[in-house]
Amino acid sequence: MKSNQVINNYDKFLLNTYGRQPIVIDHAHGVKVYDIEGNEYLDFFAGIAVNNVGQTNTKVVSTIQKQAEKLMHCSNIYYNIPAVELAEKLANLSDFNKVFFSNSGAEANEAAIKLARKYTGKGEIITALESFHGRTMLTVTATGQEKFSKPFKPVPPGFKYVPYNDIKAMKEAISADTCAIMLEVVQGEGGINVADKEYMKGVEKLCHDNDILLIIDEVQTGIGRCGSLFAYEQYGIKPDIMSLAKGLGGGFPIGATLATDKVAVGFEPGDHGSTFGGNPLACAAANTVLDIIAEDHLIENTKKMGQYTIDKLNGLKEKYDLISDVRGLGLLIGIELSMDGGDIVDKMREKGILINCTAGKVLRLAPALIITEENVDTMVQALDDIFSKINN
Ligand SMILES: *Cc1c(COP(=O)(O)O)cnc(C)c1O
Repeated sequence: MKSNQVINNYDKFLLNTYGRQPIVIDHAHGVKVYDIEGNEYLDFFAGIAVNNVGQTNTKVVSTIQKQAEKLMHCSNIYYNIPAVELAEKLANLSDFNKVFFSNSGAEANEAAIKLARKYTGKGEIITALESFHGRTMLTVTATGQEKFSKPFKPVPPGFKYVPYNDIKAMKEAISADTCAIMLEVVQGEGGINVADKEYMKGVEKLCHDNDILLIIDEVQTGIGRCGSLFAYEQYGIKPDIMSLAKGLGGGFPIGATLATDKVAVGFEPGDHGSTFGGNPLACAAANTVLDIIAEDHLIENTKKMGQYTIDKLNGLKEKYDLISDVRGLGLLIGIELSMDGGDIVDKMREKGILINCTAGKVLRLAPALIITEENVDTMVQALDDIFSKINN
């Protein structure tokens, strides 16, 4: 089948929910993606911060092959080894003690909110403007951007929104019914807005002083993406609940909601569940991903390559007025432009490099954590070429 035929059939047979790039992906390995016409792309998006250990990582592939032959699914009414191994690993690697497994980021956040409400007996959740927490009815409502929830009214009640990085606004929003504050450490979809250190510390203190739970949504920032296994670690805070998904399964769908022992008692049998959540195949893949991150020193590479990329991009910013800001944490990087970024994404793709644009004007880079200096140089050179042809 040719690309245009596939695209026509998408229009015909799939609900029209995505603005898609006009390439049909056939296969991928490492940081390289290939379309069905045989074109090669250097991937600086990694399937929205999912393929952190690289596409079709041979260790992940081999784990999935072996586990698929042995046991793919067995229901959560029985025990299985990969799930308990992953739970123990996550507990040992974080400040949390217990986990609930699901299949996606939105589900991980749903579980986080249900647990917080059940544990506290209170209802109100405070989230940030420009946040993104998922696409289910509850999580579009948690999301502090009206465009995601307005068309679907009525939405569930119990959410309040405050400007990000504004501790005064957060303090004023707290009421007697506040159950939890839910934040991203870096707002990914919202334009790569990085939380200030003092802000996060301040929010933690507000939570502590007012008996409010702190939920950190690390669906995009977790699994090494920001230069530590979980981004919150860089802030010296200890949240009560954390949600994970995107990078956790190395491309295989899995979500996880982690909680401290204190809060975990909120859930009792029957309170929450998922048919597929934490199935042996997904958990085996995630176990291997966490092993690879440690064995291949991917956190170190993320820190190094993140700084290298930011430095290179700041060089471009000196050169071009249309770059208004370069920011990020680890390998979650935003380039804010004074113009719409969609056109730049298209031009980059035509040059064989995949990037993304979010919040209208912010080019988002989220490559695999195995990226090299050479890859970064190629990407920056392509941006330089494109910017040099645009009249400032
Ligand atoms: C992507 C994302 C979600 C939603 O994850 P899905 O797997 O698409 O449901 C939630 N929170 C954040 C911060 C995200 O980036």
